[in-house]
Amino acid sequence: MEEFKTDTLCVQAGYRPKNGESRIPQICQSTTFFYGDTQNMADLFDLKAEGFFYSRLANPTVEALEKKISALEGGVYGLGCASGMSAVLLTVMTLCEAGDNVVCASEIYGGTYNLFAVTLPKFGIECRFFDVDDSDKKIRSLIDDRTKFIFAETVANPAIAVLDFDKISAICKQFGLLFAVDNTLATPALCRPFEFGVNIVIHSTTKYMDGHAAALGGMIVDGGNFNFKGNKRYPSFNMPDESYHGLVYADLPVAFGTKCRAQMMRDTGAIMSPQNAFLTYLGSDTLALRMERHSRNAEKVAQYLSNHAKIEWIKYSALENDKYHNIAKKYLPNGTGGMMSFGIKGTAKDCARFMEALKLITQETHVADVRSCVLHPASTTHRQLSEKQLQEAGIPANLVRLSVGIENAEDIIADLAQALEKV
Ligand SMILES: *Cc1c(COP(=O)(O)O)cnc(C)c1O
Repeated sequence: MEEFKTDTLCVQAGYRPKNGESRIPQICQSTTFFYGDTQNMADLFDLKAEGFFYSRLANPTVEALEKKISALEGGVYGLGCASGMSAVLLTVMTLCEAGDNVVCASEIYGGTYNLFAVTLPKFGIECRFFDVDDSDKKIRSLIDDRTKFIFAETVANPAIAVLDFDKISAICKQFGLLFAVDNTLATPALCRPFEFGVNIVIHSTTKYMDGHAAALGGMIVDGGNFNFKGNKRYPSFNMPDESYHGLVYADLPVAFGTKCRAQMMRDTGAIMSPQNAFLTYLGSDTLALRMERHSRNAEKVAQYLSNHAKIEWIKYSALENDKYHNIAKKYLPNGTGGMMSFGIKGTAKDCARFMEALKLITQETHVADVRSCVLHPASTTHRQLSEKQLQEAGIPANLVRLSVGIENAEDIIADLAQALEKV
């Protein structure tokens, strides 16, 4: 399948039926699986044979989606998770123990930031944040021999910064360090991080991958391109796992993916449900088509807003004067997706007036599905912060986040225009 382009893989990769089987994956709504002989079961438990035995570890419907997204990313192995957050958590747990640290971009999704800054330190895992615009010297200074990986987002939510992959991957290569990226808002239809030195790709499939706001989910894809063998930074990959009769993960063809499933999926049960895997599988058939439309619509909307008298500033990397325009041209040449943020000239009250006047575009705590939606972080997701804290978090009181859907661009612009008149 690898030889095909991403739009072909969207509809053809993943599940391939045999004679007489259903054309699309069935929802395999079963917790457990039958085996006639004991040896067969024992081999499954020892990871000597492949197959399903309990849906907390693996399930055929989930596997169909894992294979599709892994093919889309050009990786070797996928793990369907209950949510994007659980995908991030399982990645951390597979790599880190108490006393280890992660070097992480501060321009990341709020939920991930909270996990890294507040929750993980309670378990003895430290996070050291850098700004995506920091020099490589500054980023290098954060790394020590207990650093297990560098983490960033391709397109950061909601800062809309675009990642300079080469800068980070050069640092990782120098230190023999793993590079993990959250590719949720770019999707493999627009950017494939493994081509730029990334080793692990994470998704919240809740967003564009499903695309219809129907199913929560996450995905971890192992690029199969990181050599753990003999790397002193990763003793847990090089020492025998006593819970699997002395298995050494670094010796396996899929070291990270196998350790993640065998240890962390087993111990947490944070696997995607078959129903959600099915819905996400259906949604992802049109991923490439939708991302094209999201990008074209957003370009028109951004162009319109950037010329509007009531707009103070706008962040969208396809705009020529955007800070990340050149980086976006290099890594996202076919479009930068539907997410943007802008500032309305005025106060938080003016933002509220604008948003309440919208007729087509709805206010939601969601992004990246087929329907256009807006959110005013200062009065919703970040409302507990003071004016000063908002500034520090890079969220001015007049910031509006807009997720441009796949409606007709003229209708989206007309709705924005009539609402801006009310400000
Ligand atoms: C939404 C989101 C997540 C978290 O995903 P959930 O599926 O909501 O758990 C992680 N990263 C990014 C970039 C997101 O937008």
